Amino acid sequence: MKEDRWNIRTLESAEKKWVNIFAKLLWINVSLAFILLGCKGEDVEHTKLVQPTVVKQWIGIPSIPMMTSIKPSEKRNVVIYLVPHADDEVLTFGVPIRNDLQQKKEVYVLLLSKGELSQARDVVNGYYDHESNHPYMAGKVQWCRFHQRLHIPSAEGYSPLSVEEFGQARIKEFIQATAALGVPKENTYVYQLKHGYFGNTPLVLIINDWLKRFPNATFVTMSEIDVQRDHAPVGKVLNRLHQQKVVKFKRNYASVATRMKYRHLKDQYPSISLIHKKDVHYILKAIDVYRAWEPHKGRFGLGYHSVETQFEFLKKNMDTLLLPH
Ligand SMILES: [Zn+2]
Repeated sequence: MKEDRWNIRTLESAEKKWVNIFAKLLWINVSLAFILLGCKGEDVEHTKLVQPTVVKQWIGIPSIPMMTSIKPSEKRNVVIYLVPHADDEVLTFGVPIRNDLQQKKEVYVLLLSKGELSQARDVVNGYYDHESNHPYMAGKVQWCRFHQRLHIPSAEGYSPLSVEEFGQARIKEFIQATAALGVPKENTYVYQLKHGYFGNTPLVLIINDWLKRFPNATFVTMSEIDVQRDHAPVGKVLNRLHQQKVVKFKRNYASVATRMKYRHLKDQYPSISLIHKKDVHYILKAIDVYRAWEPHKGRFGLGYHSVETQFEFLKKNMDTLLLPH
């Protein structure tokens, strides 16, 4: 009995102790809530002040040159070409670019990436190295099908191209070819998105940057059914912005690779030819840029070293297919 009573008393005092602790915790909680509520107003104001500056520095996708010289305008005759890689501006868009220029439209051509991971670098260098797309092939030779020989840079008077030098050489071809098409140099812009994976966000940011300058522009790129892995996502992003009515006007063209794979497209969708037949010379001149082999002058014919058959296809089919999406 004695033992039992002692136990009950112990239990009672333990119970009181817990009630006490609980009450203290409750008091701490309530006090904390008051402190936090008191600070809340100041906190929100502080966030409002800081956030926009941080976001502004973060979102810009830089272009070369910067877009500072562009005067914003609501005009309707601006056409902006989103070109995933050097050579696409001729292969897929050469014909519509010529037609737009003939119709006195203001044409801007934006190269989205340097396309530095192309296998053309291994061909021109004559061998694979550790920077190659296939590093496990490092040291192995790479035959040039275009020139029907193995390139040996030291014997031909040039140095093997690093990935960086190769990217710059591709940009050079793009700038020369776009000029050959008749696009004013100041309307040519270069971005450096990651070759092989552009990501949707950078594409949206770039399009938005241009929409801020030209809200009524027509945006042009490839189709979302394109066979090339960088082409289709650009088409998808543009189509989505168009569905959301962010972009008012757009056009999608089938790339040459897509036309070569899906031959039936030609029977289903309108084919766009040159308005002025004489403009074929502009396109042939632009194709020549991608063919020119003068390595000592930094001209490496990189277009032909990577997609010779596509250039030859364009020469035989001087048109392009307008797809719905
Ligand atoms: Zn070659």
